[in-house]
Amino acid sequence: MVGTGLRIGVFGGTFDPVHLGHLEVAEEVRRALGLDRMLLVVANEPWQKQDRPVTPAEDRFAMVAAGLADHPGLEASRLELDRGGPSYTVDTVRELAALEPAAEVFVVVGADVAGTLDTWKEAGTLRALVTVAVVDRPGAEGVDPPPGWRVVRVPVEPVDVSSTGLRSRLEAGEPVTDAVPDAVIRCIAERGLYARG
Ligand code: ATP
Repeated sequence: MVGTGLRIGVFGGTFDPVHLGHLEVAEEVRRALGLDRMLLVVANEPWQKQDRPVTPAEDRFAMVAAGLADHPGLEASRLELDRGGPSYTVDTVRELAALEPAAEVFVVVGADVAGTLDTWKEAGTLRALVTVAVVDRPGAEGVDPPPGWRVVRVPVEPVDVSSTGLRSRLEAGEPVTDAVPDAVIRCIAERGLYARG
């Protein structure tokens, strides 16, 4: 039955906050690969970001949901929030496979994280289950996953923005309208996120 099911994109992230780089990647990968569903999967507890405090998961999910209001082809996914605990892509893919057994799953990553795939939980299992869609990111162009992964590279318009840079700007009270959708900025204000001091 391989190839007869839905083509599903899994774009996982901390989205702290979601920005135009994320949205460009999600839209472009969905279009280029002809995906039936493109999920932005908000990490509940991102195990890769334990070196800093992370904004509560429900606030990060609300920002993603607000940011996707104008993107009918993209879905904000609660899978990792509802599962609770640390968020591992292999568990998310297994959950999707149980819901959609014939689906073909594409895990979307920026080139800055492509090289780390072998360190992910149950990397061998994940490698057998998915194709990795790699996009370049300014400052990390051309990095490939380690050998053994099924890979498709998707060209995207470079968007030189990171959540880290945006958190600094927001904490300094600087505008971020060039890099964050208006609906997300409203969500940040309503929830009092990234406020100074
Ligand atoms: P932080 O600065 O806090 O580390 P981030 O901007 O990297 O955050 P994440 O939510 O950690 O955002 O990223 C989720 C995924 O999106 C990763 O695969 C990352 O490589 C990719 N990504 C993030 N920003 C971009 C961008 N500007 N261009 C291409 N890929 C991106």
